[in-house]
Amino acid sequence: MSKELAQEVKKRRTFAIISHPDAGKTTITEQLLLFSGAIRQAGTVKAKGKKSNKFAKSDWMEIEKQRGISVTSSVMQVDYDGYQVNIVDTPGHEDFSEDTYRTLMAVDAAVMVIDTAKGIEPQTKRLFEVVSHRGIPIFTFMNKLDRDGREPLELVEELEEVLGIDAYLMNWPMGMGSSLLGLYDLYNHRVELRRGDDDSHYLPLNDEGQVEGDYDFKSSSLYTQGLEDAQLLSEAGNPFDQNRINSGKLTPVFFGSALTGFGVQTFFDAFVDLAPAPSATLTVDEQVIDPADSRFTGFVFKIQANMNPAHRDRIAFIRICSGEFEKGLSTTLERTGKSLSMSHTTQFMADSREEVQSAVAGDIIGLYDTGNLQIGDSIYEGKQVVKFPALPQFTPELFMRVTPKNVMKQKSFHKGIEQLVQEGAVQLYKTYHTEDYIIGAVGQLQFEVFQYRLQNEYNAEVEMIPMGHKIARWIKPEDLDPKMSSSRNILAKDRFDRPVFLFENQFAENWFTSKYPDIELEKLL
Ligand code: GDP
Repeated sequence: MSKELAQEVKKRRTFAIISHPDAGKTTITEQLLLFSGAIRQAGTVKAKGKKSNKFAKSDWMEIEKQRGISVTSSVMQVDYDGYQVNIVDTPGHEDFSEDTYRTLMAVDAAVMVIDTAKGIEPQTKRLFEVVSHRGIPIFTFMNKLDRDGREPLELVEELEEVLGIDAYLMNWPMGMGSSLLGLYDLYNHRVELRRGDDDSHYLPLNDEGQVEGDYDFKSSSLYTQGLEDAQLLSEAGNPFDQNRINSGKLTPVFFGSALTGFGVQTFFDAFVDLAPAPSATLTVDEQVIDPADSRFTGFVFKIQANMNPAHRDRIAFIRICSGEFEKGLSTTLERTGKSLSMSHTTQFMADSREEVQSAVAGDIIGLYDTGNLQIGDSIYEGKQVVKFPALPQFTPELFMRVTPKNVMKQKSFHKGIEQLVQEGAVQLYKTYHTEDYIIGAVGQLQFEVFQYRLQNEYNAEVEMIPMGHKIARWIKPEDLDPKMSSSRNILAKDRFDRPVFLFENQFAENWFTSKYPDIELEKLL
């Protein structure tokens, strides 16, 4: 273990933003890029193109086709205040897919952006559940404070109640919307004024928790009330506890406005300070892989297929768990035991895709792959086998029946489905008795990519019949009586032959559980 490597690893902060569309993920990312000097002008990120909500699905396909693989926005590494910050994008909206969830397996922390006018929205909640399952730290940014939103206290209460996480108040707004005076910064013991000049933007607090000196705003009720509320809440609230933050039980809560940049720097300063550097990873046989261990290890968490038929190569996204990556490194792919040369790789910078110079634990690299790699694959350097635990499977919510259009092409249909399923593009189910194919996904885009690739890569045209939303719940094989299947559910089996009910809706599931109270149904993550 070299000292320099250990120091490099310590500088890494690898995170993803979890939020509902329109909460401000892009805007806050852009602010981070601005602070780090990676871009000079706000608006650049969006103008670049692959902003999910600006394009319909078909446009997305078109874009991918024109550009080959577009990954510039998938991972960004920026230098912030001496830290190497890796932001891994979590596509939402039309681009939402299992990859969005899998990305969360490759980060060390999450930033949850909430719109103060809306509070906790469905996609935030779902992404929170996935992150929370991993027990990694979650930092909350209550955004759009420059607009009138809901009461701050109500937002914090909702956060705790709906998500079941404790809040630690880092700062507290003094006013909101057009009357926003500033933030009472409990963590840094200062007041951050919205419209201060360089000298009065940050004003330190004295022992009484007051701003020292004569300022007009001190007579304003926004100041006195904000100060009083903040002090009261901080005394009555949850105590600071770094361990609870690290395990995702306590979330530091910040208020601010991404659009006007207010409170954003304060947020990122505290974030790099409190968020953890990469930590040890446990293998399936309980080896502890220290991130500063000199040999390279990593796992594949996402594979981005090329939508351009002329370029079949794909990019496998690899999270480095230990060691240092150098171009041309020779490694072993654990699943096959075969050697894997890491020569054609790419790293993701804010403004361009570049060949990787060097990357260390915590970083993410892209490896051009011709079909050798699968999601969840472990890669290691040296003799000792390293196998990281499998990535979780996520409960699909949307389903389609699929059949080949041309019965003569059954073979390529089956081969294509098998490979795409193994790759993690969609999940495969078969009806219990008749073995009709059903595919499941968490986002509509997965189906379209599936159909497109099946046709282009395997020359198999498919008929897809939407079945809509279903609630998938697994049942233990020993509990199963095929008579349990009714018109309100479909009995199927997954690709490991485990029986699963696809319920029409919540009502159908409730009906089932009340009819069979002793039977335990399970879901995946
Ligand atoms: P995303 O879908 O989460 O990436 O959200 P965007 O960053 O694209 O923001 C969605 C919309 O909210 C855009 O019109 C932004 O300009 C706006 N927005 C983002 N942050 C703020 C903020 O702090 N204040 C206000 N008023 N609008 C914001």
